[in-house]
Amino acid sequence: MTEKMLRFVSCSQHPPEKRPASERRHDGREIYEGFSLERAEEQASRCSQCGIPFCAVHCPLENVIPEWLRLAASGRLEEAYELSSSTNSFPEICGRICPQDRLCEGNCVIHKGFRSVTIGAVERFITETAFAEGWVKPALPHHDRGQSIGIVGSGPAGLACAERLRAKGYEVHVYERQNKPGGLLMYGIPSFKLDKEVVERRWRLLEEQGIMFHLGQAIGSKDGELSLETLRSRHDAVFLATGVYRSRQVKVPGVGMDGVVDALDYLKESHSPSEELNAKGRHVVVIGGGDTAMDCMRTAIRQGAEKVTCAYRRDRDNMPGSRQEVANAEEEGAYFQWLAAPEAFIGEDHVHAVRLKEMRLGAADEQGRRMVEPSGGHNTLRADMVICALGFEPEDLPGQWHEPELAVTPWGTLKVPTGGYETSLSGVFAGGDIVRGASLVVWAIRDGRDAAAAIHTHLSHKTTPSQPVQENA
Ligand SMILES: Cc1cc2nc3c(=O)[nH]c(=O)nc-3n(C[C@H](O)[C@H](O)[C@H](O)COP(=O)(O)OP(=O)(O)OC[C@H]3O[C@@H](n4cnc5c(N)ncnc54)[C@H](O)[C@@H]3O)c2cc1C
Repeated sequence: MTEKMLRFVSCSQHPPEKRPASERRHDGREIYEGFSLERAEEQASRCSQCGIPFCAVHCPLENVIPEWLRLAASGRLEEAYELSSSTNSFPEICGRICPQDRLCEGNCVIHKGFRSVTIGAVERFITETAFAEGWVKPALPHHDRGQSIGIVGSGPAGLACAERLRAKGYEVHVYERQNKPGGLLMYGIPSFKLDKEVVERRWRLLEEQGIMFHLGQAIGSKDGELSLETLRSRHDAVFLATGVYRSRQVKVPGVGMDGVVDALDYLKESHSPSEELNAKGRHVVVIGGGDTAMDCMRTAIRQGAEKVTCAYRRDRDNMPGSRQEVANAEEEGAYFQWLAAPEAFIGEDHVHAVRLKEMRLGAADEQGRRMVEPSGGHNTLRADMVICALGFEPEDLPGQWHEPELAVTPWGTLKVPTGGYETSLSGVFAGGDIVRGASLVVWAIRDGRDAAAAIHTHLSHKTTPSQPVQENA
């Protein structure tokens, strides 16, 4: 190895600066500062350009990470951007919210003791520089194909699919039940992890590209909704990217009581909360140990909660949430009650406490995660607000949409062939969380891009144009 390839020995890891917890507790701004040019070049130069780049192997988008790190290290930022955006539709988003510690950075093989290359922060720097320099352009089609696609849902899967298909010359219509696009990027992930202006900036680019958004337009069978059948007759192909939104229920007495709320209802309204969903001055207990639970706790802290405690049935080592997010939450003042499962929510009309049963760890399950069982002890936590964050399941699409032929798996996710994207309905494709179950943004982007390729192949043989889409539909 040349001296240049061993830069990680002489130059240590410098993650991006984190704003002090005392400051960030009081605002919704992103907690990490961006890199300076010098720092980005220095950190990118720590990549050893190893023979088998496990960072890329473990990236769902197969980003050619060492290549763009090498370009960034030598100041060739425009080329670095071209390369990083050739495999990723939204690198500015992945750079901020991918769990890099479990994906690329977690698989960086520079020697033990020399901490990984800060890939996510460099990716963010490259893309932000590209935006600032005007290098990010809408991918305009060379010609129009005279065929149209209807996309249901504007989360990362729907948007990535739309972007790819529009670039190929299809007329693309995105139907979204919310008033803004982005899915969980806009209405789930808090702004201290992902500034909403970053999502809106991407939305503007997609509009410039010619993608048509039908916002506030749900697909379904109720009044005011458009049926899937209508969409199929309007468009040459349809892509379903509706995500998973049914909250897993806590099954204990007191669940329906005032003050016991679902994580997504809480997060969605967190910028201008109603009285019921405002944690200000309250004792908040969050049930669950995943990243959504961390997001809820950290949001409650920013709203001015008196005390925020997470109750989780396993211990710190066996929780699903990222270590980084737990550390951030603790720095900001969150408390954790490990090995504690809810037994009852206590109150008259409004919750005032949570009774917890103490748990102990048992044998490991097939995935190596320790199972838990009650240890016999109990304790009670004061709670004027309880936020349930146990994860999400798919809604019953065939039932709600009156489409019994739309096949689902035993878990309610849409059924597609292994490695494929077409559902049981001809010309109807699907991807993202509605196929995988609750997953990650980077996987949704991958599905959107691959489904676009599958739709393109499917339509390459079909030439009849679909019916024109009516305005305001
Ligand atoms: C609180 C929270 C925090 C998260 N944090 C992270 C993180 O930090 N990093 C990460 O990688 N992942 C994170 N995730 C997971 C990630 O957000 C999802 O995996 C990803 O957004 C899935 O993308 P998608 O496009 O499949 O669905 P979604 O993003 O859920 O988008 C689906 C869209 O479809 C729309 N829709 C649904 N039904 C209809 C209908 N009938 N008609 C019209 N529109 C409809 C919805 O309104 C929504 O806009 C988080 C998830 C949550 C809940």
